[in-house]
Amino acid sequence: VDIEQLIEMDKKHFLHPTSAISDQQQFGPAFIFKKGKGIYLEDVNGKKLIDGMSSLWNVNVGHGRKKLAKAARKQMEKLAYSSCFATFSHEPAIYLAKKLAELTPHPLTATFFTSGGSEANETAYKLARHYWLLKGKPFKKKIISRKKSYHGVSIGATSATGLKEFRAFTKSLAPDFYFVNQFDTTALERFIEAEGPETIAAFISEPVQGAGGVHVAPENYFKEIREICTKYEILFITDEVITGFGRTGKWFGIEHYGVAPDMMCFAKGITSGYAQLGGVMISEELHHELIELSKGPLLHGYTYSGHPTACAVALKNIEMIEKEGLVKNARIRGEELLEGLNKLKKERKIVKAVRGLGLMAALDFKDEHKQKNVLFSPLVFKEAASRGLICRAVTLDGQDVIVLAPPLIINKKQIRKIVQILNDAIKAVENAHFH
Ligand code: PLP
Repeated sequence: VDIEQLIEMDKKHFLHPTSAISDQQQFGPAFIFKKGKGIYLEDVNGKKLIDGMSSLWNVNVGHGRKKLAKAARKQMEKLAYSSCFATFSHEPAIYLAKKLAELTPHPLTATFFTSGGSEANETAYKLARHYWLLKGKPFKKKIISRKKSYHGVSIGATSATGLKEFRAFTKSLAPDFYFVNQFDTTALERFIEAEGPETIAAFISEPVQGAGGVHVAPENYFKEIREICTKYEILFITDEVITGFGRTGKWFGIEHYGVAPDMMCFAKGITSGYAQLGGVMISEELHHELIELSKGPLLHGYTYSGHPTACAVALKNIEMIEKEGLVKNARIRGEELLEGLNKLKKERKIVKAVRGLGLMAALDFKDEHKQKNVLFSPLVFKEAASRGLICRAVTLDGQDVIVLAPPLIINKKQIRKIVQILNDAIKAVENAHFH
C-alpha cells in the first residue's frame, strides 16, 4: 500500500477524534506516524519530528521503550486478562494499587481502575454522589468545576468541562454541573453559600489546567480550596490525568501546593501511553466509610477495570520513572524550558506571556497584534511542524496559545532545540504578517 492510498483510506474510513472534520476530508492526515524512538516520531515519509507534546501529554518515558513491551508481553503470555469484579482479583492490579498508595499524597490509599481519564472522572462523580447518598445526604449531588477546565468526553466528564466548545458539541448534557472562575476562591465560597453546601457533592480541578492552555494556579489557591471544601463538607477531587506521574516536576501536581485531595483521578502518564489505564484514588477515610455504610455491592465497574496487562505495564513504567530520576529531570528541564521561552519572548514581538510548571509550558500571543480573525498559534504550529517540532495550538475559549509538554526523558540540548525551532517558527509567522 502506498502513502496516497493510506491517505485515501484514512479520509474515507477513519473518523478522527477531536479533529477538524472538514479539513480532514479535504487534506487527509498531515502525518501518518510509523515509529518512535525517545523524543522523536517518524512518519511514513521518513520525516522525523520532536514529539513536543509527548503525543497527548502521556508518552512520558519516550517512544520505543523495549522494557515496557517486554512487561506487556510477559503479562499477556501469563494472564492477558481476567476479571476484577466482585471477589476476583489478580496480582498486577493488587501490586499497582499498593504502589499507588505509597506514591500518592497521604491520605489517598485505595484505587478504582478504569481505562482512561474520562472514565476516571465519571467514576469520581459517581463515587462522590454515592458516598453522600450512603451518608444520608441525597441532595448533595452538584459538582463544581472551573472555567477553562478539561475533564474528558463522556457525558459526565464533558458536563464538568469548562471549555465551552466541548459542551456545545451536544445540547443535552448531564445535570448538576456548575462552573466558577479559574482562580477565584471568593466566588467559589459565594457560590456554595448561594446554592447551599447541602446540595454540593464535590469540587473538581486540574492542579495545572492542561488542555485549556496550561494555566498554573497561584501559590495559595489550592490551600484555600482545601479549606473551603473541608469547611462546607465538599469532596475535593483533583484531576491529575496530565499532571500525575512526574509531569510537573513532582510526582503529582497537587504536591506543589502542600495539600491533599479526598479523591484523585489519573490516567495517561501512569503507563506512558503504552497501555490504556486510568483510575480514581480515594482517601483512607472515604474508603472506610464506604465499607462501613455500604449495604449492597458497589454497582460500578468497567470490563477493563484493573486490566492485568495494563497494570503490569504501569508497574514497569513507574519503576522506570523512579530508576531514571525522571521526576527530577522534569523539574530541571522544565526550568530550562521556561527560561528559554522567556528569552524567546524578548526576541519575538508577537509573544505576550510565557508560563509553565515542570514540563508543561505555554506561550501566549499578543492581542494587539492580532489581525481580525487571524490566530497566530495554528500558523506557528504549522511552521514548527515543517521544521521538525510538534507542539499544540490552543484556540478554544477565545485563546491563542502554543503549548509544549515534551517527554520527561528530554535532555538539555533537546530543550534548546525545541526553543530554537519555536523561535524560528514564530519569526516566520511574524515575517509573513508584518512585512
Ligand atoms: N482529564 C484531563 C485533565 C485530561 O487532560 C484528559 C485528557 O486529555 C482527560 C481527563 C480525559 O482523559 P481520556 O482522554 O483518557 O478519557
